[in-house]
Amino acid sequence: MTRILHINSDHELLFKVLSHLVDNAVKFTREGTVCVGFEVKGNELEFFVKDTGIGINRDLQATIFDKFTQENISDTRGHEGSGLGLSISKGFVELLGGCIWIESSKGEGSAFFFTLPNDLTAN
Ligand code: ADP
Repeated sequence: MTRILHINSDHELLFKVLSHLVDNAVKFTREGTVCVGFEVKGNELEFFVKDTGIGINRDLQATIFDKFTQENISDTRGHEGSGLGLSISKGFVELLGGCIWIESSKGEGSAFFFTLPNDLTAN
């Protein structure tokens, strides 16, 4: 059965948030998987981008949505970027009426979640 969901949101902002989270997941996952999707949870849509990459330690998790936060790791791929992407993504998600958070274990991978109001019609 094909199910079509029409998400009533700002297409450009949603696309920017999702593509940034996927870009990061791919950048920090040398081997393994990146998985993207969403679930309808009551009056919210809960999007997720999960990876099995390098993971993020607890200290960094606390500030990861702040401007210019980057992990100080020797792998040069970790130094690409500006440390602004997640801060901007958080701003966009909040503009859209949702919130964003992270669950991660160092060495095991990361999962980023964000919500949007469930203002949609389903066919
Ligand atoms: P940048 O544009 O530098 O990637 P971000 O704000 O998107 O900035 O990310 C900040 C930092 O958070 C990254 O430099 C990295 O240390 C860490 N990070 C973000 N996403 C992931 C991820 N999926 N796995 C591991 N570390 C991540």
